[in-house]
Amino acid sequence: MREQDPAERARNFLEVACGYSLEDALRESERCLMCADEPCVRGCPVSIDIPAFIKQIGEKNFHGAYDVITNTNLLPAVCGRVCPQENQCEGVCTVADSLEPVAIGRLERFVGDMAIAEGWSNVPYIEPSGFRIGIVGSGPAGMACAADMAKAGCDVTVFEAFHEAGGVLKYGIPDFRLPNTVVDAELGKLIELGIKFECDTLVGRLFTIEEMIEEMGFHAVFIGTGAGLPKFMGIPGESLNGVYSANEFLTRINLMQAFDFPNAETPLKVGKRVAVIGSGNTAMDAVRSALRLGAEQAMVVYRRSEKEMTARIEEYEHAIQEGVEFHWLTNPIEVLGEDGWVIGLRCVKMKLGEPDESGRARPIPIEGSEFVFPVDNVVLSIGTRPNPLLAKATPGLKTHSWGGLLVDERQVETTVHRVYAGGDAVTGAATVILAAGAGKRAAEAIHADLSGGAEPH
Ligand code: FAD
Ligand code: SF4
Repeated sequence: MREQDPAERARNFLEVACGYSLEDALRESERCLMCADEPCVRGCPVSIDIPAFIKQIGEKNFHGAYDVITNTNLLPAVCGRVCPQENQCEGVCTVADSLEPVAIGRLERFVGDMAIAEGWSNVPYIEPSGFRIGIVGSGPAGMACAADMAKAGCDVTVFEAFHEAGGVLKYGIPDFRLPNTVVDAELGKLIELGIKFECDTLVGRLFTIEEMIEEMGFHAVFIGTGAGLPKFMGIPGESLNGVYSANEFLTRINLMQAFDFPNAETPLKVGKRVAVIGSGNTAMDAVRSALRLGAEQAMVVYRRSEKEMTARIEEYEHAIQEGVEFHWLTNPIEVLGEDGWVIGLRCVKMKLGEPDESGRARPIPIEGSEFVFPVDNVVLSIGTRPNPLLAKATPGLKTHSWGGLLVDERQVETTVHRVYAGGDAVTGAATVILAAGAGKRAAEAIHADLSGGAEPH
């Protein structure tokens, strides 16, 4: 796929990958073998009928391809861009036995983008069921649950704490990977299904889940509140000015548009040297954003080696092309400051030992190897966990010790009757399509549970 030149794109927030042309998409569709056993469909967490939509592309029936995808997934332009296809559908594609796998994600994006450009939607006739469903959180889990409940005839309202809907798709993943206009366009398809969005609504503070069921008239509630609470390292100097959690850093940039300050109201002070601690997709997004905000030296500092890095290979390669520095086997032990502001990051070199409980090699400090990186900002990207606010405000809602909501053996209902949950709030930080899959699974269970005990119509 055509991409923006690395030197140029490292200074702007425009999309890196430019998408397929019509000819590219037709040529790529011809590579599909239409395997009878469809390994790619089993590799997709929401089981999109991949050979069927690729066949429609080959026949130039692009609207037909869109209908096939959206029978299962309402977010083709989003998922086509950010799904880790290499570990899912493309990872099991038969063609990959001898050649590059069929570029399923790129084809899905092509169809999603064409649907946005042409204004297509896939709104079936919906017979009202009389049931009302409240969804807490508007990320992919909440969106997927809302869509399937609306298609089942329910009256659905999504409550979102932020001033805009979309969850991490909107506040976390930067425009150069997933433009907010694309997220908004796909959210628009949910509004066409009759789903209502109420933003600036922090459930657990403005009202409780108990009140939603007992006083506000919801027959069931789905919790898709994600895992947005950042972890910190607990090292000296973490509260200095110039230290950010990756969540705050990216939210200011993506949702509050700090890159356009003072035209936008939220500032973000980014200096010439920025260190991002961590090695996942979030770390790559933060370090590449720092470059785009004018950093001359943007670096990733990670205590394990390149082999243990958790980011998608494509994001890592893009970061290298753009000039990001990677410091492996390096562990920060103190943020240094002057007059309240960051001036450096003290680190120690590490070596790898035996595997730890996560199965990855345990990093061990090398004695006497301490040194200092002079930096102006430190961005912590060492993981997140679910915010405890809602669980604390909901009597009977039980969580694991690490904060994830406990669900039943179907993986959908919480410890409170008629309150369901899915996505990162249950699993901890995972992926867009796993969250969407969990939302769909919950919708199916809610539908079955409500119809089983049927009342309203
Ligand atoms: P979220 O997307 O987190 O949405 C939860 C929503 O609930 C938020 O909008 C939040 O404001 C709202 N909320 C929370 N509490 C309340 C409350 N009490 N009341 C009302 N609303 C509330 N995955 C991929 O597959 N590919 C990627 O490339 C990728 N890159 C990522 C990059 C970054 C920077 C981050 C942070 C994550 C990335 N992920 C990626 C992971 C993926 O985005 C998440 O797994 C996914 O968004 C989880 O969806 P969710 O619906 O469970 O939660
Ligand atoms: Fe086509 Fe690959 Fe799926 Fe086979 S596995 S049907 S070749 S996309």
